[in-house]
Amino acid sequence: MKFELPTLPYSYDFLEPVIDAKTMEIHHSKHHAAYVNNLNSALEKYPELEFKCPGQLMRNIDQMPADIKQAVINNGGGHVNHSLFWKTLTAPDTSELSGEIKELIETEFGSYEKFVELFTTAATTRFGSGWAWLVITKEGKLEVTSTPNQDTPLMEGKRPLLGLDVWEHAYYLNYQNRRPDYIKEFFRIINWEVVNARLEHAKNCECSK
Ligand code: MN
Repeated sequence: MKFELPTLPYSYDFLEPVIDAKTMEIHHSKHHAAYVNNLNSALEKYPELEFKCPGQLMRNIDQMPADIKQAVINNGGGHVNHSLFWKTLTAPDTSELSGEIKELIETEFGSYEKFVELFTTAATTRFGSGWAWLVITKEGKLEVTSTPNQDTPLMEGKRPLLGLDVWEHAYYLNYQNRRPDYIKEFFRIINWEVVNARLEHAKNCECSK
């Protein structure tokens, strides 16, 4: 299968002022597009490899031929991470924590504030480039974690529900070196309805979107 750059579910300026239109345009049409193109190039050599979806590709990364494995980690990870990221964002201050994810966060972390604290720490302390995550573990527990580069929690058998890109390309035009400000603003644009849908999907389906 050939992977394709997904269309953004909103316009480039939809997340302003938290994420500016220029950053979104470059991030989606250049960075994400490059991951998709490079992933397709890496897989061209092995047309016999078949995958239902990018998530399945990444969960079975150990089956990749050695000569393309790192390219698939970097670019397949880049593709699934960004696809998730776009979908879980919404216009500032329009989505409230609700439903099953609210209950789980409060039960497992103690409170929403504690979750914010854990996620902020994960995003702040990820040195260099990478991602902060809210995931479900193999045991079905919520976990806040982070990964380097474009590594995806799917490779560890975890199901990502929410992710924050902390590569400089995600925020530098607007926030420059102020990653903590970008992280703080991120909590205003989380689409909790989509996170709830991902939670439901993760419980019922083998293939991660
Ligand atoms: Mn990115």
